[in-house]
Amino acid sequence: KPTVAIVGRPNVGKSTIFNRIVGERISIVEDVSGVTRDRIYSPADWLNYEFNLIDTGGIDIGDEPLLEQIRAQAEIAIDEADVIIFLTNGRDGVTDADEQVARMLYKTKKPIVLAVNKVDNPEMKEMIYDFYSLGFGEPYPISGSHGLGLGDLLDAVAESFKEMDLEEEDEDTIRFCLIGRPNVGKSSLVNALLGEDRVIVSDIAGTTTDAIDSVKEVDGQLFKIIDTAGMRKKGKVYENMEKYSVLRALKAIDRSDVVLIVLNAEEGIREQDKRVAGYAEEAGKGVLFVVNKWDTLEKDDKTMNKFIDDIRDQFRFLDYAPILFVSAKTKQRVHTLFSNIQMISENHALRIQSSVLNEVIEDAVARNPAPADKGKRLRIYYATQVAVKPPTFVVFVNEPSLMHFSYERFLQNRLREAFGFEGTPIRLITRARS
Ligand code: GDP
Repeated sequence: KPTVAIVGRPNVGKSTIFNRIVGERISIVEDVSGVTRDRIYSPADWLNYEFNLIDTGGIDIGDEPLLEQIRAQAEIAIDEADVIIFLTNGRDGVTDADEQVARMLYKTKKPIVLAVNKVDNPEMKEMIYDFYSLGFGEPYPISGSHGLGLGDLLDAVAESFKEMDLEEEDEDTIRFCLIGRPNVGKSSLVNALLGEDRVIVSDIAGTTTDAIDSVKEVDGQLFKIIDTAGMRKKGKVYENMEKYSVLRALKAIDRSDVVLIVLNAEEGIREQDKRVAGYAEEAGKGVLFVVNKWDTLEKDDKTMNKFIDDIRDQFRFLDYAPILFVSAKTKQRVHTLFSNIQMISENHALRIQSSVLNEVIEDAVARNPAPADKGKRLRIYYATQVAVKPPTFVVFVNEPSLMHFSYERFLQNRLREAFGFEGTPIRLITRARS
């Protein structure tokens, strides 16, 4: 999936446009970890194109002067995006700050689409002509508050997707990433996993982003470790910003089948760990908890169980994720990571035959009758699996409003008991039979 970034000086309306393009994407899971709050990165689509959208305006670099802020945001767009939407404000005309942004963007060969915001009605279209002077060709008039012009703008963005040849990912390769707070040991784990024969591949499926992924073959299975922020050279102004590492983590999660949430045994669970884990759950990826630095603890026979209880208690929404205790330093149990990742990835892509699926559902309903309201009972006609990664089931019923959260949960648990699904989320969608 290509990545599109919105850049522009402050107050041109970046977040408004971001929200307009992303639309009201209702999260399937409740916002347990505050992930959807102040979002700066989100999947979006236009016509038949799917892409990820970044609002660089949401990456606040603190007390730096305006010029530094503009520079950092433009750099992030240049580094992370395949196509850039350069946003300006028609009511202000071309400002010095717009020209600063433009000067930054001249440095990249990536496609840039110039948009002029706040053109709220057709009479205002004249305003766009000044913007030719920025040197990015035809300016697209839009109105974030009225939702005008976005179709033409997105057509232009989609046009540049056609010129990128998005290479097919090899279906047989299992892709995973390691996310977690700084210093939990992600880089050390990657080194421990790769050992001597470290192979670096520097292409993301045909896109131009400069991520550094690594590939390793274990017992005939290919694994690709997706690059995240902590794993590459430091030096740019924005490398240490929290929002930027979040952005990098989200991008990595998006490209992965399985996400390893790395915790630090020495420090226990922190609030930030929960947020990070929330991204993986929301993205519908397989999840494995990895408690690293296990070598640093004085252990007795209760230490591990206590840690497991803590994780289950703090990450209730990830009750299906296995937990491994490892040490990147001594390599204890590091080799078990690959087989666990493989197991989770298989569950994540598992397809259940409709006949078997419906037997399990019928049996569940027989044990625990479906809920009723005002004399009307929920009737489940049949269920079918509509997607993998994660396994997604549609249950056809007489009246979807009768499906309570708790009954849905019960059905999900029955599916887990019957089919396992260890390490993967599953989704249940209730629809009226037409
Ligand atoms: P990252 O920021 O998550 O990539 O963390 P690093 O891999 O850079 O590790 C942070 C620090 O923790 C380094 O000093 C590592 O040597 C140390 N470290 C990493 N894994 C282990 C481990 O399993 N045991 C111990 N004792 N130290 C570790």
